[in-house]
Amino acid sequence: MWWRESIATLKGIGPKKALGFNKLNIATIGDLLNYYPRLDSYLDQSKVKTIRELSLDGSKQLFSGEVVRVNDRMGRGKRYSIITVRDDTGFADIYLFGAQRFTAKRFKNGTNVLVTGRVKPGRTAKLVSEALIQVYTPENEATVTGILPVYNLTESITQQNLRNAVHQVLDMAQAEGVPETIPAEILKSNKFLNRLTALSNIHFPESFAKLKEAKRRLVYEELFLLQCGLLLNKERNFDARPGIKHAQDGELVKEVITDLPFKLTEAQSKAWNDISVDMESHLPMHRLLQGDVGSGKTVIAALALAKTVENGFQGCLMAPTGILAQQHFETLTSFFSGSLTRIELLTSNTKTAQRKKMLQDLATGNLDILIGTHALLQEDVEFANLALVITDEQHRFGVNQRAKLVGKSDSAPDVLIMTATPIPRTLALTVYGDVDVTIMKGLPPGRKTIETLCYTGDRRGAVYEGMVRQINEGRQVYVVCAAIEESEAMDVRSVYEVYEELTNSYLKGIPCALLHGKMKAAEKDEIMERFVKNEIKALITTTVIEVGVNVPNATLMIIENADRFGLAQMHQLRGRVGRGDKKSYCVLLTDSQVPDTLARLQVLHDCNDGFILSERDLELRGAGQLFGLRQHGLPDLYIADILRDTDVLVQTRKDATIALADKEMRKEVEISVQNQFDERFAQIFNS
Ligand code: ADP
Ligand code: MG
Repeated sequence: MWWRESIATLKGIGPKKALGFNKLNIATIGDLLNYYPRLDSYLDQSKVKTIRELSLDGSKQLFSGEVVRVNDRMGRGKRYSIITVRDDTGFADIYLFGAQRFTAKRFKNGTNVLVTGRVKPGRTAKLVSEALIQVYTPENEATVTGILPVYNLTESITQQNLRNAVHQVLDMAQAEGVPETIPAEILKSNKFLNRLTALSNIHFPESFAKLKEAKRRLVYEELFLLQCGLLLNKERNFDARPGIKHAQDGELVKEVITDLPFKLTEAQSKAWNDISVDMESHLPMHRLLQGDVGSGKTVIAALALAKTVENGFQGCLMAPTGILAQQHFETLTSFFSGSLTRIELLTSNTKTAQRKKMLQDLATGNLDILIGTHALLQEDVEFANLALVITDEQHRFGVNQRAKLVGKSDSAPDVLIMTATPIPRTLALTVYGDVDVTIMKGLPPGRKTIETLCYTGDRRGAVYEGMVRQINEGRQVYVVCAAIEESEAMDVRSVYEVYEELTNSYLKGIPCALLHGKMKAAEKDEIMERFVKNEIKALITTTVIEVGVNVPNATLMIIENADRFGLAQMHQLRGRVGRGDKKSYCVLLTDSQVPDTLARLQVLHDCNDGFILSERDLELRGAGQLFGLRQHGLPDLYIADILRDTDVLVQTRKDATIALADKEMRKEVEISVQNQFDERFAQIFNS
């Protein structure tokens, strides 16, 4: 198909330019068609004035004419050039200084040019400064006037390169035709532009009204096809296995509840009720449990596991890191200590002999609960009768990984996903499919709030002194940095830099360690373990620390370059302290003096609710930065914004369901999904 051809077949794109385009992820003609401009920055070049029409107020205007004279002059010791341009209505003198003068050489008498510049009165002709002059021919008219697209660029590719290339491709599309991707019925009922008109108008809009229409259609198209893809995928993976029906709460659940060192909060009781009802149904549970850091989700996991065990089944819990799995293992072991429940921990560190025995017990049903990391996904991990799959901090796992774990049962197991990251419902639907959501609001009583303070960099020394005082009192601290390595582009203190600096000054002689995401899992786990054992007093780290590890003796967190982080993210981070009975602090350090930035950080001092904070993030930073689809194992979107376009998302979900149930429409959809989106959505379809 013509759009699969390489861009190297286009005019003006040689091997070198092609490499530049490749940097923008553009390899084929189709990629170019789908390389949408920045939607908020079209350049309005549609008003080409005559010279007489130019107003003399010094504003930037656009006009065209023929070059009649090019002169070099000398004034105040500097050389400058004047290009005189005329049309049927008058004359204009364009002044070029400095390096701009060299462009003058390109314009001979008789050349037609298009000029943008500031216009003022002159003696004999209108005077134009800060000018941009382009050769103007019937051939290039379409890419230099009108409403022009502005694309994101890379070094070797200019705006005009992209405009020329896209324009050629649109001409090809006009000649060859582009297949429609939306079923005719939907196209008609929504009065959408056809695909070619939409593509043409997103790149080179005929008018701003047409641009809006093009965008409306393309946003719909993208979300519609995404939903169709997800639904088709779901059909393909249709779970024909029967669900598992659990009985009402029995002895073990009651025992675990009575043995807890505290009473369930109201939010926990409500969450547990939702989950019990799901588990007692013959349909498989598919529930997302959202609760702020420290809201007490682990207890809920324990109850669900108890319920499955007392019904004679097995359950498992998967966590994203070894240390987290270890902590869950310890917590759950203590919750179940009054019973005969058999619990084991499986990570990549588990010794071979132990692992072998464990897997045997698992396969024969001698083991009730298995806690672990990704190690649980391995082929030879086989359950006798798995009925409950729990994942903690699920956003760290891909779609496929969850499916793999769920696949380890003859029946369709109940699935519980626990997360502290607030995910808007619409996104949850997209990412997790049909999922029920329980939100646990508030924190258990007795948890101390973390005092959060914000200082600018000039107070860094005093903050570090405070850190040393905490350590001398026997406490432990985290110092969180925004980057691993130094980079020239970003003015941030890297984790290496801070580690070097601190171990040579304030923290000299104090056991410290460095921790970041590029280290091997085993190495990270070992360092965390030593921190948990209080062998390490200060951990200089990146955000790898963000997921729920529990070190009650840690009472201070310092966040360097705090302005680099989202509020919700810092809220998660600070949830690492304040876990014991000692008063805890979180200190935000920033080198920014920008009042808005400081005000944003101040919000963390005032607010302790992760859900409110993430809403603030949304307002302040936009959706894209917070909930990338790729983070969830789905493809990034070109034009739709999953949070801004919520209404469309909901609509497309409905429409996709209807379309796939309809014989005619289904055919159309299957073809378009294959035709245009197979590569992009491969991750979904092949999972
Ligand atoms: P998260 O939701 O972040 O996973 P955890 O399950 O780790 O939270 O719980 C945080 C802390 O709160 C733990 O130390 C836990 O023992 C404690 N906790 C949980 N539920 C209650 C409760 N109902 N009353 C008092 N403390 C509780
Ligand atoms: Mg947790």
